[in-house]
Amino acid sequence: MSSIIQLLPDHVANQIAAGEVVQRPASVVKELLENAVDARATDIKLIIKDAGKALVQVIDNGLGMSVTDARLCFERHATSKIRQAEDLFSLHTKGFRGEALASIAAIAHVEMKTKQDQEELGNHIIIEGSKFISQDAAVLPKGTSFAVKNLFFNIPARRNFLKSDTVEYRHVVDEFQRIALAHPKIHFTFYHNGSEMFNLAPATSRQRIVAVFAGKTNEKLIPVQEETEIVTIEGFVSKPEFAKKSRGEQFFFVNDRFIKSGYLHHAVMAAYDGILKDGAQPSYFLNLTLPPHTIDINIHPTKTEIKFDDEQALYAILRASIKHGLGQFNVAPVLDFDRDSNLDTPYHYKDFDGATPTIQVDGNFNPFSEERPSKQFSTYKKPESTANWESLYVGLDENPNESQHLTFENEEITSSLFQDEEVENSVHKTYQIHKKYIISSIKSGMVIVDQQRAHQRVLYEQFLLNMTVKQASSQQLLFPLNLFYSSSEMELISGLQLSLINTGFVFEENDTDHIVISGIPVNVTESEVSIVLEQLLNDLQDGIPESSFSQNDSIAKSMAKSLAVKTGSYLTEKEQENLVNGLFACKDPNVSPFHKPTFITMRVEDLDKKFAL
Ligand code: ADP
Ligand code: MG
Repeated sequence: MSSIIQLLPDHVANQIAAGEVVQRPASVVKELLENAVDARATDIKLIIKDAGKALVQVIDNGLGMSVTDARLCFERHATSKIRQAEDLFSLHTKGFRGEALASIAAIAHVEMKTKQDQEELGNHIIIEGSKFISQDAAVLPKGTSFAVKNLFFNIPARRNFLKSDTVEYRHVVDEFQRIALAHPKIHFTFYHNGSEMFNLAPATSRQRIVAVFAGKTNEKLIPVQEETEIVTIEGFVSKPEFAKKSRGEQFFFVNDRFIKSGYLHHAVMAAYDGILKDGAQPSYFLNLTLPPHTIDINIHPTKTEIKFDDEQALYAILRASIKHGLGQFNVAPVLDFDRDSNLDTPYHYKDFDGATPTIQVDGNFNPFSEERPSKQFSTYKKPESTANWESLYVGLDENPNESQHLTFENEEITSSLFQDEEVENSVHKTYQIHKKYIISSIKSGMVIVDQQRAHQRVLYEQFLLNMTVKQASSQQLLFPLNLFYSSSEMELISGLQLSLINTGFVFEENDTDHIVISGIPVNVTESEVSIVLEQLLNDLQDGIPESSFSQNDSIAKSMAKSLAVKTGSYLTEKEQENLVNGLFACKDPNVSPFHKPTFITMRVEDLDKKFAL
């Protein structure tokens, strides 16, 4: 039989890659602005026509490129920013994939002028749909100018897919603002159809925020500052009285890169707990600096997600530092008796080793009180996560009045003080180690379960079952929840509505800027609703899957991700057991919904071998 496999020609491969990198004019704006920042420009001009559909031009005064580089930069995987895979863990630049320019050149008319400072002459290149048209020497100022015209000229389907100028312009402004806010020391100007839209002189970050958002922004801002081993937080949040009905001015930057995070958003909202009207949204501009090796920048070119090594600690530190900021401005009550005292001292987290807990005697502990033991022994749990955790096992628990919330240390105290029968007689069937793994003895040896992944699997199957087989059960809310979203988010939500109803959500009405929810799935708590939807919007920002099967699947995955107990959470023995049982009752217990192993086993013979060495 003759062979039929061929390598795709470069220009076709580039066009395909372009589909990932370039969705709309705003994607070009983002890539070109980032390249200019990476080239250490101090002055960057953005010029667009017809919301970027006709022209996106970025002019910088940065390093420029040599003759060879000027040509090479349009090749795929051509980058000056990393040399080896390890460099990915110490990234200080925005780019690193070397894909943007090749992609853009595949689907537009590109004219580039570039000159390095020390050179007499610069280079002028014209390239159209990946074809080099010309390359000439030219007299040019230092720096680089990229003009990208007629985006998608050779892919009419993509061009027709673009939204109205108003919508596309909004996207461009979003990208521009994100980059301008992250780099206040750089002078940015922005022209649309010949009119100056922004002219942002070099400034402090506060001045930059005010210049970008104008109006009365300055008086709204409260500074937030915190330095810990894990993270340095700097930035501003708005006073509660300036909270808005819709979200909008909410920005997280991690190492100068704009990111989205439902989880961190939740931490901010938690700091405002009790001082905002229902549904009100604060503005925030928060710069987080973390050691590059502790974060994982999503390798996907357009995603703005990021993974943190130590999410729980970050959550606690962020919440505490904002609370502190609000408190300093007498916005939040300074004496806040309801607080989780752990959140005030998360900075010892690094010294806090889950494996060797110290025994602390709680002087206030009263065995006769109905109340749970003091909270100060609990660890960095996402607030309310235990509630959800419990609800998963409603009905399975024969002894619901047992104090399930005792953490390891508390257990020590109760047992030593009272020799509680239950504790004395209990045989440990499971052990949790490093707040991450659960170990249990099985016939052939032992099983080690990853708690987060296992819980994701359990929740995922439950949600899928609800959506596809069972009638979903939902809990009626006493007071309907009003949640506000931007118009594009509202569009996503209404697209997802059917599937969400199948999981147990009950929608009362949808307005142009908010939804009213009167019922929620049984395994979600009220306070988790916004974080779940937030995560969902983040996960589906590239569009809703078409088939209802993959729509259900994405929703179940996303909800399992946001609701699963995280690495770093203590689990009571009962919770551990329930989780292990729940996992092995699953259809596919071996892997998480994200295809990661959920457990490993070790046979006694394996152990014997280790000891025989
Ligand atoms: P990446 O940014 O991921 O490296 P790009 O395709 O965006 O990939 O750019 C390829 C290379 O072209 C960059 O690594 C850089 O060396 C060079 N380059 C792009 N834009 C500029 C610019 N404005 N000034 C100087 N060099 C640039
Ligand atoms: Mg780049």
